[in-house]
Amino acid sequence: MSLPDITVPADLLPVDGRFGCGPSKIRQEAVEALSAAAPALLGTSHRRPAVKDQVRRVREGLDVFFGLPAGYEVLLGNGGATLFWDAAAHHLIERRSAHAVFGEFSTKFARAVAGTPWLEEPVVVESPPGTHPVLEPVEGVDAYALTHCETSTGVAMPVRRPDPGGDALVLVDATSAAGGIAFDPVDADAYYFSPQKCFASEGGLWAALCSPAALDRVAAIAASGRHAPATLDLTVARDNAASDQTYNTPAVATLFLMAEQLDWMNGQGGIAWAAQSCLAKSSHLYGWAQSRSWAAPFVADPAQRSPVVCTVDLDDGVAADIVTGILRRHGVVDIEAYRKLGRNQLRIATFPAIDHADVEALTACVDHVVGRL
Ligand SMILES: *Cc1c(COP(=O)(O)O)cnc(C)c1O
Repeated sequence: MSLPDITVPADLLPVDGRFGCGPSKIRQEAVEALSAAAPALLGTSHRRPAVKDQVRRVREGLDVFFGLPAGYEVLLGNGGATLFWDAAAHHLIERRSAHAVFGEFSTKFARAVAGTPWLEEPVVVESPPGTHPVLEPVEGVDAYALTHCETSTGVAMPVRRPDPGGDALVLVDATSAAGGIAFDPVDADAYYFSPQKCFASEGGLWAALCSPAALDRVAAIAASGRHAPATLDLTVARDNAASDQTYNTPAVATLFLMAEQLDWMNGQGGIAWAAQSCLAKSSHLYGWAQSRSWAAPFVADPAQRSPVVCTVDLDDGVAADIVTGILRRHGVVDIEAYRKLGRNQLRIATFPAIDHADVEALTACVDHVVGRL
């Protein structure tokens, strides 16, 4: 594609041009702290104190950040949120689950469950991209699958128990939401995510905040004799987490960067601060989109707009791939729409690590480019 020759003046550009929804901006301070810690940390055994300390920092940092109720445990393992879907099919879903499906990621979990031979066909409650469905109580279901923020569309749904008082578990894919949207941990039994989004680290790891009911379910399914490969065995993950380890070798840099981000966010005021910061940045973006004749928020209902993943439709006359192409040449990257959604759209992360002033600079840059097309 040949791009029009449009130059954005340097004084309009954001200081940091990373607005991707994952991998996402990693604060340079954290990278420098990693560099300083490296000689005594990187390339050392994950069964020794230096690395186990990083696992402990992550587990304690998450506990403090989310204000976990007594009895909740932080489990960790390799493979990211995608692997956790398979672990859930082995050790959290007893017989049948019900899924809110409203985009690529929620679809993937429902599909993973549908392909699991010992589980019944899952109940799927679907709504069109740009909205979220509401899960009602379903007879005979022992787990509800929610997605706190559907990263493919920029829709956020509330974390609430579909069947309060029932004993079905609530499993929440919080991969892009965790760390940027406040919720009450008592409303989820397994709130799981990867660290390359709000936790400003690298991919490859999963973390899950597990309630006593979830831990009991894991123990009961394991005791029933259902086979799980060790990599998907949540009793193995739990035992390892309890001694500040993972079952197999983790990426030490990922753990360190996540721990740094947690310390930083906890120092700023924890989840209340982070949620407010993301809300302020996303409000700027949605307000900006509404005030431009050639742009509009993709998610029609303001209550469903994600404060961490913002999707903005552009008019047919303004080609998103040209705008993103020109900005990419200037170091402003990863604001393309989710590929499979196939819309003329910008998708912009407003994660905690992303500066408010840079979000404002980004909208000024888009204005500049569109004004010269
Ligand atoms: C990014 C993302 C995933 C996938 O995470 P991986 O670390 O690649 O496994 C799953 N669900 C949601 C909502 C996501 O945003």
